[in-house]
Amino acid sequence: MDNSGQVKYIFCMSKYWSTTVKNIKPYTPGEQPKDKKYIKLNTNENPYPPSPRVIEAIRQVTDESLRLYPDPVCDLLRETIAAYYKVKKEQVFAGNGSDELLAFAYLAFFEPAEKPILFAEITYSFYPVYATLFKTKYKLIAVDDEFNVPAEGYYQENGGIIIANSNAPTGRGVPLKTIKTILGQNKDSVVIIDEAYIDFGGESAVGLIDEYPNLLVIQTMSKSRALAGLRIGYAIGSEGLIEAITRIKDSVNSYTLDRLALAGAVAAIKDDAYFQKTRTKIIQTRERISNRLTEIGFKVIPSQANFIFISYPQYPGSALFQQLREKDILVRYFNKPKIDNFLRVTIGTDVEMDKFLKTIAAIVAKR
Ligand code: PMP
Repeated sequence: MDNSGQVKYIFCMSKYWSTTVKNIKPYTPGEQPKDKKYIKLNTNENPYPPSPRVIEAIRQVTDESLRLYPDPVCDLLRETIAAYYKVKKEQVFAGNGSDELLAFAYLAFFEPAEKPILFAEITYSFYPVYATLFKTKYKLIAVDDEFNVPAEGYYQENGGIIIANSNAPTGRGVPLKTIKTILGQNKDSVVIIDEAYIDFGGESAVGLIDEYPNLLVIQTMSKSRALAGLRIGYAIGSEGLIEAITRIKDSVNSYTLDRLALAGAVAAIKDDAYFQKTRTKIIQTRERISNRLTEIGFKVIPSQANFIFISYPQYPGSALFQQLREKDILVRYFNKPKIDNFLRVTIGTDVEMDKFLKTIAAIVAKR
């Protein structure tokens, strides 16, 4: 079917769609190209493979065990995560990627059509998608010219708060002291800190969960533990919050994590030496590349993530994105107000980043 045929087909079928489906604007994930080999710096994946112990653990899964359902409460994984973060197993929930956890959290904590939830004007673009899907009102907190989100923005009536720390796509971190102040001002609603990128230099709020029963910290193994392909996310918070998410999970799908994912995830947490080595390497590469880009005239937002957010004053972001793509380098471009002159560039290996640097320097030098 050509594209116009496809459009006509969808139009005819849409009479069967619910109003929810008609009204949603689904999230668009970064491209996973199949046409040729790119230097892929567009989806914040880890450039290094996962710990060899992960592959080893997955190999140990027997065909006999695959015949059986996995553990619906993910006991071993939750115990392993709890021991690592020095919390109780009952304070941990494990799920199929942190996106799924965020969806469960909306259902568990945010009332549809009541007080708006708050999140930053520039942040992870899945938050408004869930809000539309689950009919949650939301209010955007304006960012300043440097993409900082003023804490005072969160001092107003709300039905919940989500803060990505470090923020995406800017890489900006929020100091723990600020998170504490925001928590102190919002004792009656759930505050979710999405720490997908925290291991690349930010200050985690996990240590605050006993002090703030309304705090839910969400992390993922997709970035710092190089397991985007295995789909593992986890939430850490008070037992009451974890029980609420578990009730949602058991009303949607009891077995969100399969046996391979459970085995791999436990091994990933246990190999701390590998985790420390690879995340430190990514941070070092990020700093080196950020400094070089600044020297050649780029604006680089200081990053506490495994990506950088950059712009070149005399070169439109969309054109720069296209030029890089033609030279087989994929980065992420968002055609949205305030950020449409920026590119988000995932930190790759040193070899990949040197090629990126050489290519982008040559492109802007032609101006
Ligand atoms: N939160 C943020 C801020 C992200 O950038 C991402 C990755 N797209 C996620 C959550 C989801 O990650 P995953 O579902 O792979 O755990």
